[in-house]
Amino acid sequence: MNVRAEASPKKLDVVQSGAREGGRVKPAVDPATLEHRNLRGGDWWRAIPAYADVDEATFIDYKWQAKKSITKVDKLLATVQELASPEFIEDVRQGFAHAPMAVRVSPYMVSLIDWANPETDPIRRQFIPMASELLPDHPKLDLDSLHEQADAPTPGLTHRYPDKALFLALDTCPVYCRFCTRSYAVGTDTEEVAKVSLKANADRWEAAFEYIASRPELEDIVVSGGDSYQLRADHLEHLGDRLLAMPNIRRFRFATKGPAVMPQKILSDDAWVDAITKIVDKGRKLHKEVAIHTHFNHPNEITEHSERAMNKLFERGITVRNQTVLQRGVNDSAAAMGLLVKRLSHVNVHPYYVYIHDLVKGVEALRTTVQTAIDIEKEVRGLTAGFNTPVFVVDAPGGGGKRDAHSFEHYDRTTGVSVYRSPNVDRDAFYCYFDPIDELPEMGRERWADPGQHAAIVAEALEAANEYMSQRR
Ligand SMILES: *Cc1c(COP(=O)(O)O)cnc(C)c1O
Ligand code: SF4
Repeated sequence: MNVRAEASPKKLDVVQSGAREGGRVKPAVDPATLEHRNLRGGDWWRAIPAYADVDEATFIDYKWQAKKSITKVDKLLATVQELASPEFIEDVRQGFAHAPMAVRVSPYMVSLIDWANPETDPIRRQFIPMASELLPDHPKLDLDSLHEQADAPTPGLTHRYPDKALFLALDTCPVYCRFCTRSYAVGTDTEEVAKVSLKANADRWEAAFEYIASRPELEDIVVSGGDSYQLRADHLEHLGDRLLAMPNIRRFRFATKGPAVMPQKILSDDAWVDAITKIVDKGRKLHKEVAIHTHFNHPNEITEHSERAMNKLFERGITVRNQTVLQRGVNDSAAAMGLLVKRLSHVNVHPYYVYIHDLVKGVEALRTTVQTAIDIEKEVRGLTAGFNTPVFVVDAPGGGGKRDAHSFEHYDRTTGVSVYRSPNVDRDAFYCYFDPIDELPEMGRERWADPGQHAAIVAEALEAANEYMSQRR
C-alpha cells in the first residue's frame, strides 16, 4: 500500500518539498514504535501484598533487595499465594521438585511478573519452573555442555580462544536463573545436582592470576561466575588491580546479571559502584578498557530504576554491553527482541550478543531452533544503529565457542542438527548443535524417538558438512 497517496494535502506538501530536495519523507510513525521509551515507573511493586507498605527508599536499597530475595520455594509460593490460582501454585511446587537450579528471586523480579497471567509471563518463565512445562531433555545433552571444565588449566579459568579467557571468580549470583549454563557450579546443591565448588577463594584466584600472567597471548579476560555483583568492593578492586598490572592484559569485562535483576544496587551500593569506577578510571589511564557485560532478556526488565542505574554508570564513563539468551515464550519473536534492542539502546546499553539457548538440563521448553534465531535476526537487523544490533550466536557444544548462527556448514531442519566449524579453536573439528525435538517436523521427532537412530542422525549431518566442505575446496 502506498501510504503517501493517502496523506492529507498538508502532508503531501511536505512530501513534495522533500522530493524537491531529492529526499523522500517517511509517513508519520505509529506511536507503538516508540514503545521502548515507555519505562515502568512509580511504585508498581505495591501491587504485591507482601510489598504493599514498602516505600521507594526501601525498595531501592540493595540491602533490602538482597535480604528479601526469596531462596525457599515455600516462601516464594507464600508471597504470591493470594495472586495466583491454586493450580498454578501446585504446578510450580512440582516444577521446583525437578529443577536443577536453586531458587533465588529478588523482590524486584517478583514485582515485575504479571501475576494476572503468570503462566505466560516472560520473567516468570525465566525464574520459576512449572511442572506442566517440563519437556524431556535432549538425548545429546551433558551437564558441562560447553566444556568449560575440560578447557580449564586452573579451576574456574577457561582458556579456549587464542587471546581471551573466562575466569569464574565465584559461584553465587543475585538471582538464580533456571536456565543457567553453569548449573554444574552456580548456586547451592539441589536434589538434582551436587555442584562443583568455585568459591571466591584466595588460592584459587592466585592460581588463575599466575596462569594469566604466564601466557603472553592472553589480552582479554571475562570475569564471570557466578556474578561479579556478588564480589565485595575490596575483592573487586584487588582483582581489577591484579589484571591491570599485567602488561599482556589489554582489556577485561565484569559479567553480571545485576543491572537486569537488581539495578537498585547501582543506585544504593556506593562502595561497589565506586570500586568499579576506580578500576575503569585506572584502566583508562593505562589505555586499557574495562567494561560491564550484563544480561537483560526481556524489555519488561528495563524500568525507570534500570534507566537511573544505567545513567549513573554512563555518567561515570562505564561501557555496558548486553548478552541475551533467546528463549521460547520469553523473547522469541521479532516484536519482543526488537523492543528489547531498542530499549537497551535507549538506556545506553549496547546489545552485543543473542545466544541460541545452550543445552541445559530441565529447560528444554525454553530452547528454540537455530532457524528461529535466524528469522528473528533478519527482522532485528536494520532496526537501529549497527553497533546496537546484536550478533546471534550458537555457543557450540563440545567447546567450539561462539559461532554466528548463520555460519553453519550444514543444517538439517528435519533432525534439527546444525554443524559448525571453529577454526580458531580447532581447525579440523566439527561441532553440532541440536534444536529442541518438540519443535521439529514430525519426521524428525520420529527419528529421535528411536535411540537406535541417534548415531546415524549425527553421522549424516557430519557427512553432509564434509561433503559441502570438499565441494568448496
Ligand atoms: C564467551 C567467552 C569468551 C568471550 O568471548 P567474546 O566473543 O569476546 O565475548 C571468552 N572465553 C570463553 C570460554 C567464552 O565462553
Ligand atoms: S545470573 Fe548468570 S551465572 Fe547466575 S544463575 Fe543466572 S545465568 Fe547463571
